[in-house]
Formats: sequence, C-alpha cells, structure tokens
Amino acid sequence: MFLRELDAPVTHIKGAGPSVARTLANLGVTNVGQLLSRYPRDWEDRSVETPLRDFARGGEVNTIVTVLAHDWFGFGRMKTLKIHIEDDTSRAVLICFNRPFLENQAPVGGRFRLWGRFFFKYGEIQSTAFELEPIREATETDAPPTAFGVILPIYSLSAGLTQGTLRRLVKRAIADYALRVEDELPRLLREREGFPTKAKAISAIHFPASLEELETAKRTLIYEELFYLETLVGKRALERRTKKRTQAPDGPISEGLSPLQSRLIERLPFKLTDAQTSAIAEIDRDMSSEYPMARLLQGDVGSGKTLVAFFAALRAVDLGGQAAILAPTELLARQHAENAARLLEPLGVNLAFLTGNVKAAGRAQLLGALAEGRIDIVVGTHALFSKDVTYHALRLVVVDEQHRFGVVQRAAIMAKGDIPDLLMMSATPIPRTLALTVFGDLDVSVIKELPPGRKPIKTHLAQQGNEQKVYEFVRKELSAGRQAYFVYPLIDSSSASDLKDAETWETRLRNKIFPERKVALVHSKRKEDEKRETMEAFRKAEIDVLVATSVVEVGVDVPNASCMVIEHAERFGLSALHQLRGRVGRGEGQSYCFLVYSKELTEDGKARLKVMLENSDGFVIAEEDLKLRGPGQIAGIEQSGYLALGIADPVRDSAILAQARVDAFAILKSDPGLLENDHRVIAAVLERAPPFGTVVA
Ligand code: ADP
Ligand code: MG
Repeated sequence: MFLRELDAPVTHIKGAGPSVARTLANLGVTNVGQLLSRYPRDWEDRSVETPLRDFARGGEVNTIVTVLAHDWFGFGRMKTLKIHIEDDTSRAVLICFNRPFLENQAPVGGRFRLWGRFFFKYGEIQSTAFELEPIREATETDAPPTAFGVILPIYSLSAGLTQGTLRRLVKRAIADYALRVEDELPRLLREREGFPTKAKAISAIHFPASLEELETAKRTLIYEELFYLETLVGKRALERRTKKRTQAPDGPISEGLSPLQSRLIERLPFKLTDAQTSAIAEIDRDMSSEYPMARLLQGDVGSGKTLVAFFAALRAVDLGGQAAILAPTELLARQHAENAARLLEPLGVNLAFLTGNVKAAGRAQLLGALAEGRIDIVVGTHALFSKDVTYHALRLVVVDEQHRFGVVQRAAIMAKGDIPDLLMMSATPIPRTLALTVFGDLDVSVIKELPPGRKPIKTHLAQQGNEQKVYEFVRKELSAGRQAYFVYPLIDSSSASDLKDAETWETRLRNKIFPERKVALVHSKRKEDEKRETMEAFRKAEIDVLVATSVVEVGVDVPNASCMVIEHAERFGLSALHQLRGRVGRGEGQSYCFLVYSKELTEDGKARLKVMLENSDGFVIAEEDLKLRGPGQIAGIEQSGYLALGIADPVRDSAILAQARVDAFAILKSDPGLLENDHRVIAAVLERAPPFGTVVA
C-alpha cells in the first residue's frame, strides 16, 4: 500500500485520544501515513550513560536520578518550577519553564531516567532542556519505548506534544501499519542500490537499531524523494523543448515593446535601468517564441524586479492572455496589487487581488470574472492556484520571491497542464548547477545594477548594552522625517527564552524610548486586516517606527525608511539579514542598518556579522553563506525554506541528487511505464513537501 493511502485516522492508533489528535492536526497530521512521513529532525544516541558529574564534557547527561525537592521562583504567570535532583555522582536542578505540570509528574522521592543538556549557572548545575521518564516496574505491560540504551528519534514539536507521546504513537503506528507500506521506487533501482524495502526504511528512520541502519534508511528515503523531484523536473524539461504552445504566440508585436509596454514607459517617473531594459527584452523574446518561457530573474534587493514583472504581464495582456502574479505573503501580494493599481490601471488594464482572505460573495464574483477573461492581471498569494480558480487564458505566471516556495510547489506549477510562460524572481541567488538540478531547464536573466542615485547602506554593529546610541541615532533620523524598522527574532514572550521579542519591545519603544513618535507592530500572528492597516499607515508615513519579525523580510518597499535595526542579529541567517537590510536604501537619501548582537557570540556568529559588515552584494553574501555552512551541515531553517523537501537537501545531498537525476531522465526517455503512473509519483512528492509559501516567524 502506498504511504499516502494509509489514511486511517490517527485516532485509530492505540493511545491517541481526541486531544492528541487535535494537536497533531495543528501540525497537519490527521492520518497514519502523515504521521509516519513526519521523519525525525534528529536522533540521539543514548546508548552511553553520562552521570551528572561529567556534565562538563559535552553538556549532555544521561543518568538515573532521584527527586529531592521542589521549589518555585518568579511571580504570577511567570512562576517557574525548580526540581532538585541527584544521581550517584552529584546534585543538580531542573528549571521547568512552562512545565508546571512536572510538579505532579515528578514527585519528591520519585526515581527517573533523565536526559538533558546541563550547564553551570548561579552556583548550580542546571538544565532547562531535559526529559524525564519514570522508572517503571518490570511487570507493567505496554510501557512506552524506553528512552535509554537506544537511538531515539527527536521530532519537531508543537505546543501540547512531547517527544514521549510522539515516539509512542509512531512506534505503535509502525507496529500496526508499516508492513502495509508498499514500495514506490521502481524495483530495478532499489535492487541496484541495495536499498531496503520502503516499510523497512520507514521503520528504521524512526527507530534505527544501529547508526548504520539509520544511514541506510536516510539514504533510501533521500534518494526516493530526489528521484521524484527529478521526475517532475524531467517531465517539464523534456516537454518544454518539444511541446509547442497551443495558443498562437504573437502576430504583430513580436518585435520591440508591445503597445501597453510602450505606454507604461511613457508614464514612468524615472528611466528604466539598462539591466531592466535588457531583462525585459529577454522576456519579450521568450514570450514570442513558440515554446513556453521558463526564466529566472535574479536581481539584488531593490534592483527593481517588480517593474520587470509588470512589463511581462502587460505583454501577456497585449497577446490576448491573462497574467497571474504570485507572492509568498499576503503583505507582499497586497503591495504588488497597490503598485499595479497605481501604474497599470491608468492604462485601462483590469486588475484583481486574490488571497485566501477574500471571502464568499466577493470571491465568487472575482472567480467568475477571471474565468470569463474580464480580468487581465491578477495578483495574489498561492490562493491563485486553488482548485476552484480557473483562468480564461492564463498566459503568464510570475512567481515573486520564488525561493520562498517549496521546490516541489515550483516544480508542480511548472508541470501544470497547458504550460503558461513562467517568470520566477528572486534576490537569493542560486548557483547555476543547482538551478539546473532543481529547475531542470531554466534561462536566467540577471539585474546587476541598482537604480541610479542609491547610496550604499551604512552598516554598524552594536553590542547588546549599547542600544542607547542606536536609539539616539534613530531618533535623529526620525526627526528628519525618515522612518525606521526594528526587527526581533521572536513574536512574543511565550517561549522560555532570553531573547527580546517584538511584542514586548514594541510597547517599550512606544512608551519609553520614542514616546513622541508613532510606533506600531506587525508579525505573522496578527490578523490580516490589522497587518494591512499597519503596513498602509507605514507606507503613508503615518507610522514612524515599525516593529516586526522577519515578516518584513520579503519584498516590503517603503523608500522613506532609512533605518533598519535588527536585534539579536546573530540569530538570523545571512540571506535573511541581507533581505532585511534591503528594506532600507530604497530611496535617494542615506540609509543605515544596525546589527545588535548578544554578548555571547559564537565564532560562527562573529563570522557571519563580519560578512554583513564587509559586503553589500547579495551574490557574494550567498557564496559566503554556503562556505560558512559547510557541505555536511544539516539544513537550517533558511535553507529548508529555500530548497524545502522532506528529508533531502539538494545541497547537502548533491551526489545523490545527481544520480537520481540521471535515473529519472533515463526512465522518462526510455520507459516511462516503469513509473507506473505519474499521479502516484507526483502525489508522493507533494505529500512530503511543506505547504506553499512556508514562511518562518
Ligand atoms: P526588488 O528587486 O527588491 O523587488 P522593487 O521592485 O521593490 O525591488 O523596487 C525597489 C524600488 O525601486 C521601488 O520603490 C521601485 O519603484 C524603484 N525602482 C524600480 N526601478 C527603478 C528605476 N529604474 N529607477 C528608479 N527607481 C526604480
Ligand atoms: Mg521584490
């Protein structure tokens, strides 16, 4: 049986009650197949015991302890439980942030197996990251899988879930269902590579008997995923050069600018840069060719890609078709829609804006207009590709900030039926060889220059504790009528972390630091209309200081903003920092970026801030980023957003990727029947991919 067809609800697993089911549903897991496809993010080898006394050796402890006492510190909602423990070698304390329930679960006198990371603080050996497991009587049946003496899976969690619960459920699910998992890979390939069966691989990825078995399982599943990806990519690549357009391409406008494009040029308050002009010419040529376009437009932040997209859209309209402009966030989609309204509506073009938040009546009307061709250009989020959306004559799809979409979603758009022209845009450069493997076959245009008159952004580092100077500087800029962003790594104070968060600091900036200014907050958890109002007000300069998380990272364009302050800058990846910094320096005046870093800065953190200080070119920063990460490293949040797959990482696994590519292309060319049917393959890929537009924070 195919993994996705393991559609028994999770509640059929013994021990999964309604409340666990609800929590799992928040993670998008409702059936057994989905649970089994949620592979661990890491594994802990707990076969070796490390007593408390030896915590300093690597910070990790794996031992048996007795609970000595409980006490509490802090007040009200912030009250925190402290559990005093000892093993045969030493005493220590467990700090139970957000886990008051441990008071009952770990009573005084209780014996527990303990695993945790320990450090020395305030004269004690402490841990905030630990797991406790009661030592059970041997007679007890159905005890949970023991957390010691084995290699344990570590899953990504969400509120209300524990490692223990997940492990227990997965273990049961494997016992009851995994044998029904059939093989998906062509047998030929499996045998050649010596891969275990899919059932075996699934079981071993969760609960490996040894490190070798884990490696084999990983390799099997990584190969499988990349094989599917390359099948998608390969289909498109092979078709693109052989399948002509069904609609006639051009007629009279194959040479030079189309009528609408010429009229836009006349209306622009500035001249196009040479790089924009040549990108537009390349796109125009593609769109007049008899084969559909697949082009990647790369240009550093602020280089003016949006405008190039508008020119492409206008050509599609002149060719009698429709254009869809897709953005990863509602915020950015709205900004594009507003710009389009300003620049394109006066040309007599019919525009629409579509996101998941456009409701009922309005939506039905809009969909009708799209289907009948009364709308020329539609701007929106991934809602543009919902099942109920049909186009009269979709001629062009623009994907802005394409790196924000999963690899697989892009491949799926590219594989869509009657292939429209495709223009993908990104400031995050992707190495050419990688582009070939993940996109198959793609032409690239590069915008190398920024619009004239831009001054390089001045970047400054500030150690935490010296923020006053930064505030003073920002205050002067605000007095001069400019605006500022303050960006924090966290939304609110709900996680037990020492990091500053946007919510707390918005209050502080508003009441204490800039009481004379308008300060407002935007982050992903706020309601869409609140976000919209805030962004609109910021754009109109009715708000002086915008406090945010990395939601403002993509695309936001407010040229009057001159200061970007990033707190805990070492917590952000290089490409995020570069994108955030790119929110300023979009006008003619001088702009500034302040990277505020914590005192405890790792070598790696130092190196990355140095890169930001010394470089302004996104391409160089991306290269440095790859170098610093090193090839063997597990994909970080950023990279998984960039090239998101389930378990494979096209950079780390480039060798496997190359092999999968050769295999997939060979089969597609010689014997597509071996893939049984494509729907199964595509479904399998989609199933494991994160949803469209996965945006962090
Ligand atoms: P990005 O490439 O980062 O998406 P945008 O399209 O948001 O950049 O453009 C950045 C800013 O530059 C916008 O305010 C836009 O209006 C402006 N802009 C674009 N092209 C030019 C140009 N040729 N001359 C001057 N300003 C331009
Ligand atoms: Mg942009």
